[in-house]
Amino acid sequence: MQFENTLEFAQRLDANDPLRHYREDFHFPKVNGEQVIYFTGNSLGLQPKRTKKYVDEIMTDWAELAVEGHFHADKPWWDYHEHLASPLAKVVGAKPEEITVMNTLTVNLHLLMVSFYRPTAKRFKIICEEKAFPSDQYMFDSQLRFHNIDPQEALVTVKKRTGEHFWRTDDILDKIEEIGDELALVLIGGVNYYSGQVFDMKAITEKGKAVGAMVGWDLAHAVGNVALELHDWNVDFAAWCSYKYMNSGPGNASGIFVNKKHLNKKGIQRFEGWWGTKKETRFLMKPEFEPMENADAWQISNVPVLSVAPYLASLEMFEEVGMEKLIEKRKKIVAFLEFVLREVDKEVAGTFEIITPSDRGCQLSVFLHGHGKWLFDYLMKKGVVTDWREPNVIRLAPAPFYCSFEDMYRFGQVLKEGILQNA
Ligand SMILES: *Cc1c(COP(=O)(O)O)cnc(C)c1O
Repeated sequence: MQFENTLEFAQRLDANDPLRHYREDFHFPKVNGEQVIYFTGNSLGLQPKRTKKYVDEIMTDWAELAVEGHFHADKPWWDYHEHLASPLAKVVGAKPEEITVMNTLTVNLHLLMVSFYRPTAKRFKIICEEKAFPSDQYMFDSQLRFHNIDPQEALVTVKKRTGEHFWRTDDILDKIEEIGDELALVLIGGVNYYSGQVFDMKAITEKGKAVGAMVGWDLAHAVGNVALELHDWNVDFAAWCSYKYMNSGPGNASGIFVNKKHLNKKGIQRFEGWWGTKKETRFLMKPEFEPMENADAWQISNVPVLSVAPYLASLEMFEEVGMEKLIEKRKKIVAFLEFVLREVDKEVAGTFEIITPSDRGCQLSVFLHGHGKWLFDYLMKKGVVTDWREPNVIRLAPAPFYCSFEDMYRFGQVLKEGILQNA
């Protein structure tokens, strides 16, 4: 499609957008009395208007039923998380029994590493991406120290080539091949948080499996953003948070995937608690642990329903729309944003450099050469919420659920005015 950088054109794209009404289903912060242009759905998704009802339901049940709410609320609390497995399985390309929701992301990655990082004297190395998300780096280091393994020796980071902003799939596959039978685990962020690059999860998983390693994915920036086929790709395990593209609220519950082939395995290592035992006999308080036959076996504590409720509200919206339509709009709106950036760039003497490669999801990361943090602050004052990373990168993620094409056009105008005024 031939884009035009005009208000009329952007409005025409909106008029033809089948998802345009969903914008009204979200709360937008306001600046100067106007709804912001929100580019940070990759950091904290906006609040769906229906979410409050789900939380209020639990508050009311708690007030009126107290302890009885565990079994007699409309949606009883003791197995509340079960409502999420099926819609979430569709978002990540899994079977419902491979999914559960519990804890938070880094905690879940730790717990999954207990099961799927089982180092031996020969096979003990881990491959991850260079400069992984800091929490993931701390996780790797502390897990390795927990096993009395020196991170310097065991953690292999795949690097980008000098002068390039993205990882080459071949470099990752070659590294997996090279480490070979010393490789215990490949664990990478499926979509890179900094550049927005989408890794070839299918090819990397296949290669990891071929050399006999476990393969897991941190899907924080991938879930609700890009097409995932975790089951068919033969991924061993994955985890993600729910507060980025999944719009489920700050610090909220995390989802995990455990491949069906690892369910009901006798003797699998796992940190266990009572919510992982069979429902039928859970309250007999027996000493022996009888695991649930699905991913719920990884559950430990009773469900924090107040934090799971917003996730259910959001999943209902994903269920209504489906990933296909979201991805279709996402591709179009990101392409339009890129077009607008390039048009503005022509008028402000070429200072933008998009470092996101063509394998991308919702996010464009842009170097603002010659401009400092003042530009970020200026955008904020004008009601454009972006994310700033030192030294001079802004990350822009126009979430397809609630961002409009007009937002992209208006952003371009604000950006241009800011730079020209300060020139
Ligand atoms: C956002 C993000 C996290 C956050 O972890 P929490 O445990 O939810 O605080 C972890 N890893 C990656 C790659 C992320 O993008």
